[in-house]
This record gives sequence, structure tokens and C-alpha cells, in this order.
Amino acid sequence: MKTLICTTPGQFTYGDTSLPERKQGETLLRIRRVGICGTDLHAYEGTQPFFQYPRILGHELAAEIAATDEPGFTAGESVTIIPYFHCGNCVACKAGKTNCCTQLKVCGVHVDGGMREYLLVPSYSLVKNRGLGLDELALVEPLAIGAHGIRRAQVTPGEWVAVIGAGPIGLGVMEFARITGAKVIAVDVQESRLQFCKERLQIPFTINAAKENVSAQLAQLTNGDMPTVVIDATGNLSAINESFRYLAHGGRYVLVGLQKGEIRFSHPEFHQREVTLMSSRNATREDFDRVIDALLNGQVLPLTYITHRVLFEEVQEAFPGWLLPANKVIKAMVTI
Ligand SMILES: [Zn+2]
Ligand SMILES: [Zn+2]
Repeated sequence: MKTLICTTPGQFTYGDTSLPERKQGETLLRIRRVGICGTDLHAYEGTQPFFQYPRILGHELAAEIAATDEPGFTAGESVTIIPYFHCGNCVACKAGKTNCCTQLKVCGVHVDGGMREYLLVPSYSLVKNRGLGLDELALVEPLAIGAHGIRRAQVTPGEWVAVIGAGPIGLGVMEFARITGAKVIAVDVQESRLQFCKERLQIPFTINAAKENVSAQLAQLTNGDMPTVVIDATGNLSAINESFRYLAHGGRYVLVGLQKGEIRFSHPEFHQREVTLMSSRNATREDFDRVIDALLNGQVLPLTYITHRVLFEEVQEAFPGWLLPANKVIKAMVTI
């Protein structure tokens, strides 16, 4: 079958791999859509931590079931998957936190993913389509990251939530903060992204960190209180260190974005606010269900996100262009 392999940073090769044989507890998928996200771009650039090559990318998937023994699922039906393959036995799994399993294997990151015609997955990872189409199914995973961040932060209606970074993950975070009833403030350094938040996501407040004094603007908007929740979706070290000061006393600071370095902040600033600091990794089935609900009831409009479309055969050529900010990629969607 046709397969696209990232052989080394900056290099893709189309190859021919054999069809895998299905064992008990596994489902064979015929892949139909692959969404491209920051992880894939970083893997291609060679900047993704702990990434090994060669690797078949692709974790935001929509597929049709080719063969399964999973009760409740039948061949031909369309599904998405939860691509965080977990052990089920570790301390995190036993606590229901399969998203941060000690043995976690993310499909398309730690193990080969869906950039090919057929893929074998553990049957426990299947998610019913519930009436969603293929494009929408492939968007569930990236949105679930945002839904998980908002659930981690325990956002409540009416509170001020500042989301730092308006890339694809930040947009998902903003959507679920808005749906929860929070007053959302988008912070980014690119005016076009902030414009997108206003026009397409109905985010009422935006601050351009390249032009404006973020602390002063936040203080003005919140009547001096500052946001009770600040969520980093930049994965940028200086942005993460800086954003600490944007937080209200008693507030929560959630790191959805990830970077390679060490975070540094003033202990007195941390202490006087009695800050709750947390990370938010991946998502769980509960978050996937929440996203599907939001897509079904129109709270999230999927076509907002898909800015680029290509066929599988065109990925190798198109991919480098998706790295260029000028192309304003939010979500590139591959049809197989
Ligand atoms: Zn992704
Ligand atoms: Zn585990």
C-alpha cells in the first residue's frame, strides 16, 4: 500500500509497505483524512523533542473500518481514533488519566501513524462518528486538546480567561472557554491571527503583544483584577515566563503548549498570587465526546479550521509551504 515516510528532518519519501495482519483486539482502518498539526510540522523541521526517524506521521485521523472484532463497530462505518495508545495498568491509567500514561505511545509520533492507506490500531481507541462527516472527524483530536485544557482549568461561566497564542491549539482552547461561558481574551503577536479570532470565533477581546502592553490591557479589561485563568498555547519559553505576571491573585496557570527548556519565574510573584500551576497533556475520551457534542450542536464550526486541502499524492510537495507563516495555515487536510 502507498505510504508516506518522514525519513529524516526535511525529507519525505513515498514508499510501498505491506498490509498489516490484524490480531485480536485490533482494528484495521482504511484511512480517509489526515489533519496536519504543529507536531507534524515540528517533526518535519526536526524540532520535536524525543522524535525518532524514520516515522510515518499522521495522528488526526478519519477512517473507515476495514476489519474489526470490536463489539458495536462494523466494517464500512466511519470513525476517528483517540491516538494516545496507553497501557491500561499504570498509575495514570488506573486513575483514568490515559492521556498521560507512563507508557504512552502517540500514533504518528512514538509509533507509525496514518499517512498511508491502511493502519492497524487498538480497538479501544475507536470513536463513533455520531453523524459527523470525515472532515469533522479528523478535527476532533486537535479540538479535544483545547477542550481538555479548559476542563483541567475548571473554567466557570463569567470568568476572565486569557489565552496566549492563537495557533490551531490556542483556537481550540478559546472555543471551549467561550462555550463554557468565560470572557475570553486572545493574545498573540500576529494581527491576522487576532483578526481571525474576532471574525471567525467570536472572541470579543484581543491583544497584540507585539504592539500593546499586555499587562496594562488585561488590567483595563478586567477592572484591575487580571484574568483568573491564563492558558499558554504558544510553547514559547519567553511567552510562558512572561505570562505568569498576567494572572489574577488566586488564579490558575495552565500550560497546554510545550517547549524544550526550563520554566523560570519569580517565587514571590508566584507565592503572593497563590497560583495553581498545571500542565495539560493530550485529552481523554470525555474530551473527545465533548468536542463531538460541540460539533453536532453547531457550537464549533469545523470548516473554520480547514484552510488548505491536498490529496495524499501532493503532501510531499505541499508540506514545506505549510511551515511558512505567510501561507496562514490553520489546518491542512489530506484526503487519501
Ligand atoms: Zn495534532
Ligand atoms: Zn498506562
